[in-house]
Amino acid sequence: MITNQSDKNIIVNRILEIRKKIEYAALKSGRKLDEINLMAVTKNVSADLVNVAINSGVKLLGENRAQELNSKYYDYNLDNVDIHFIGHLQKNKIRTIINKVSMIESVDSEDLAREIGKHAIKNDKIMPILLEVNIGMQQTKTGFYPDKVLDHIKIISNIPGVKIRGLMVIPPKENVMYYFEKIRDIYIDISHKKIDNVSMDFLSMGMSGDFEKAISCGSNIVRIGNLMFGSRY
Ligand SMILES: *Cc1c(COP(=O)(O)O)cnc(C)c1O
Repeated sequence: MITNQSDKNIIVNRILEIRKKIEYAALKSGRKLDEINLMAVTKNVSADLVNVAINSGVKLLGENRAQELNSKYYDYNLDNVDIHFIGHLQKNKIRTIINKVSMIESVDSEDLAREIGKHAIKNDKIMPILLEVNIGMQQTKTGFYPDKVLDHIKIISNIPGVKIRGLMVIPPKENVMYYFEKIRDIYIDISHKKIDNVSMDFLSMGMSGDFEKAISCGSNIVRIGNLMFGSRY
């Protein structure tokens, strides 16, 4: 990828636009801009351009692949910036990321939660996690089925070394509002149950094409790739 000054300016302007849209969507649902976390999704983006986003005030990065994170990590300007893992995580890669990320949003099995917990304890920490929900029950996607989430939460909340902080979702592209509303209801329902060692603080949903709709349904982490960095697939 070529990185020149005009690329950088484009990213800075896109971030301003995205912030305006987030603020407007948040206001419409009675919230403020700073209640919504804007995540820059960095897959296939050079560390150089990610740093442009950081310099524009982005405080949260989303990483899909352990290998890519490990290769770019030391080139990021990470002062006051958090990294969340958002991709399918293989158990043998946990070790390589456990001290680089402040949350793993893509926990999609009890086994993975157990393994993360073990590594966290070895490193004297408790890793905050979100459970990924396969809200559209799509065969091609990972994540817990919506009608099983509560059962899994009850089990995972007892695993040492991890703490459930909310839910993450990648809905089907069609009828996205239907799925956003469905996950919002599940999220609120679980919040009301006040399960020990579970705090429903984060609902991570919404990407470039649908983040405003996600905010209208209660999202407080929006994960933006293309709209910030341009198409790169
Ligand atoms: C790539 C990706 C995104 C960002 O998608 P865009 O459409 O590029 O904004 C968000 N979440 C996850 C899990 C992703 O893999």
